[in-house]
Amino acid sequence: MPLMTRDEYVDSLRRMHKRVFLLGQQIEDPVDHPLLRPSLNACAMTYELAQQPEHAWLMHAASSLTGRTVNRFTHLHQSAADLVAKVKMQRLLGQRTGCCFQRCVGMDALNAVDSVTYDMDLALGTGYHARFLRFLEYVQENDLVVDGAMTDAKGDRGLHPSLQADPDLFVRIVERTSGGVVLRGAKLHQTGALNSHEILVMPTQSLREDEADYAVACAIPADAPGVLMVAGRQPSDTRKLEGGAIDVGNCRFGGHEAVIVLQDVAVPWERVFLAGETAFGRVLVERFAAYHRQSYGGCKSGVGDVLIGAAQALAQIQGTDRASHVKDKIVEMIHLNETIYACGLACSAEGRPAASGTYLVDTLLANVCKLNVTRFPYEIARLAQDIAGGLLVTQPSEWDLAHEEVGPLLGKYLRSVARYTTEERCRLLRLVENLTLGPGAAAYLAESMHGAGSPQAQRIMLARLAGVEEKVRLARSLAGIENGA
Ligand code: SF4
Repeated sequence: MPLMTRDEYVDSLRRMHKRVFLLGQQIEDPVDHPLLRPSLNACAMTYELAQQPEHAWLMHAASSLTGRTVNRFTHLHQSAADLVAKVKMQRLLGQRTGCCFQRCVGMDALNAVDSVTYDMDLALGTGYHARFLRFLEYVQENDLVVDGAMTDAKGDRGLHPSLQADPDLFVRIVERTSGGVVLRGAKLHQTGALNSHEILVMPTQSLREDEADYAVACAIPADAPGVLMVAGRQPSDTRKLEGGAIDVGNCRFGGHEAVIVLQDVAVPWERVFLAGETAFGRVLVERFAAYHRQSYGGCKSGVGDVLIGAAQALAQIQGTDRASHVKDKIVEMIHLNETIYACGLACSAEGRPAASGTYLVDTLLANVCKLNVTRFPYEIARLAQDIAGGLLVTQPSEWDLAHEEVGPLLGKYLRSVARYTTEERCRLLRLVENLTLGPGAAAYLAESMHGAGSPQAQRIMLARLAGVEEKVRLARSLAGIENGA
């Protein structure tokens, strides 16, 4: 069975030679760096749960290529049931990590590239699909993490890629040789880049016919010559360097994003899946976006479970859990969270096969899912902060709690309901702080807003796909205006 254990995964990253920059320095050991390790732990959970028999039904899938059992994160969805299982798996991982576990972007990219290369070969007589399947089999057999790399630097948002002052602001082919292509540019906001084995490059937006050099999809080893990564900052991230276990809020897990710079990276033809076919670049962008908008229905509801649990636990510790307004707020949080999840399930259940046999989500419902995610986690976070109270942002550090003189004083005056300890209260407050103001908020809030496309992108899709004219026809018909009453 081609499944790596958690430790084998970590060791596989150790054997790589990525060029990684963090806080102004090139770091030699991204695997064990204390600021980055929580994000590795979160991604590693996708391996850990796959080893647990009780989660095998979610974490495992039978490969459509080999028939062998593979991690679902490397699987091509073969049914609507597979799409539903994907969302359930993501909710489970969100619950277990309380953060972004990163591996979904690659899963979504693999599924999108599969059906698009198939369609492209049919329409244009190209030979991309067989190449892609060979790459996918390599990914499945080695149980790899793939970074789905879509978002370009974009420069002036009002200008097309070819009209930018700097032509490298969108990743492009700068040279075609008999052996392959050479890529230059940068991909921003790359979730899980440092924890990935492979980078699956895709175009970022619709392209004009004269922008063929920007229409490129290909796979690059994450430590290939010319690949450089700069890790992004998150709020309060340096608390991870303090060596504590309380003030970080979620001390074992976290997410990360990075800038990936491609400095004239040579990619052999065997790993190129789109090179100049602009019309199919647009299809690839839309299919990937739909899959990742579905994904949020799973992961964000899982993290929402953690935040709802933290708010309820704090209410119990602080003696407010029986107040009717607190009960009502918890119910409101549940309603919002389950609505997100329901949308993820709905767009999955309505999934249909593409020509390649791989299942696509219902695009309209996936966009509804993501549009809800741009709003509901903010309201859930607001309610959690309301329930938590002002100590959320005024409590002293864990070092004060442990101090010889002031520690006992804080233990006495920060205690609430007697059967709970002050430390329990402080830990839960820090968890809420992490998820609504700290590093966790980067994923639960800002990423909910902009990941898989900002809200306007979903609104455009809703306007395009909702069939408003058909609704007008229905209304006019029932009103007896045309087609008889
Ligand atoms: Fe997965 Fe959610 Fe992170 Fe996207 S934001 S990679 S769906 S955990």
